[in-house]
Amino acid sequence: MDTIIQRLAMDDTAGNEFYIKRDDLLPFSIGGNKVRIAEAFYEDMKAKGGDTMIIYGSRHSNLCRVLSDLCFSRGTKCVMICSHEAGEDDAPTNNTHLITWTGTEIVNCAKNEIAQTVERVMNNIQESGGTPYYIYGDKYGKGNEGTAARAYAEAYREILRQEQEMGVAFDYIFCPSGTGATQTGLTCGHLLAGDRKKIMGVMISSRETERAYQVIEEGIQTYFAEHPEVREQMPEDLSGEIHLLDAYRQEGYGKYDARVEACIRQQYLANGIPLDPIYTAKAFWGMAEYVRDAGIHDSRILFLHTGGTPLFFDYVSNSSEQQQKP
Ligand SMILES: *Cc1c(COP(=O)(O)O)cnc(C)c1O
Repeated sequence: MDTIIQRLAMDDTAGNEFYIKRDDLLPFSIGGNKVRIAEAFYEDMKAKGGDTMIIYGSRHSNLCRVLSDLCFSRGTKCVMICSHEAGEDDAPTNNTHLITWTGTEIVNCAKNEIAQTVERVMNNIQESGGTPYYIYGDKYGKGNEGTAARAYAEAYREILRQEQEMGVAFDYIFCPSGTGATQTGLTCGHLLAGDRKKIMGVMISSRETERAYQVIEEGIQTYFAEHPEVREQMPEDLSGEIHLLDAYRQEGYGKYDARVEACIRQQYLANGIPLDPIYTAKAFWGMAEYVRDAGIHDSRILFLHTGGTPLFFDYVSNSSEQQQKP
């Protein structure tokens, strides 16, 4: 099912047209890029003969929300390995509550104990006769880099089809870049199409830029290694294809200032679009800044709305009191 692409009302004097693809409206578990990605993991589990899914993330994770819901709705057992960082904010969020609703078994672990925890959970499942499937591959989180990317390589084809129907050709596609899976998939889609679009990832965390770049590069290589029939579509040198903007991440993951908050209000008021401060509003704000700073003009620019709507409501609830003060 295609998600719609809308034209946005934007302050722009450089002749640009802005559009948004509403993957936040994907029709499962409040939407988001994790719906496409979760479906890809689920299919991969089935293809590999697994019957118990092991998921990993924080209690606030959009991916864990969608995967725990998907597994519940399909009667598949799911175990969540939940990481904690020292000094992390422990207050439950909307996603925490929704994950709790599914009754998913949660195994807590520290950030430096992930591999041994994954191994222990896998062994427990095997001992009770199940076949575990860990979404990130082996206990070190390696070996399944291509699956999430596949979801957005497919979504890219959807975008191409919609361009035809709409009679527009996008010059740029911007998306928030966290793990980089979404950007990797879109970039693979672009390489497969052999078109001239630029896929722009706006970094939202303080992950080292060089490392983030490398993860995307390896992701693209993995994707094409898994699709040998189209391998010649991948250029030897990927450096001209990976565009990572690292100037807009502010103090790092989950940190944002008044400019991101203003963007949330403005996009809600001007276009009726919910953006959250951690992913989509930060990236949307970063996109607008970049377009201006780089002097981009007379271009058609698509922003991929990657969801996170529960985080939008976390923000609305926490900011409403403040707002009521005169
Ligand atoms: C996970 C997530 C992202 C980041 O996607 P990656 O594929 O990890 O880069 C962006 N936006 C939202 C709302 C997300 O939940």
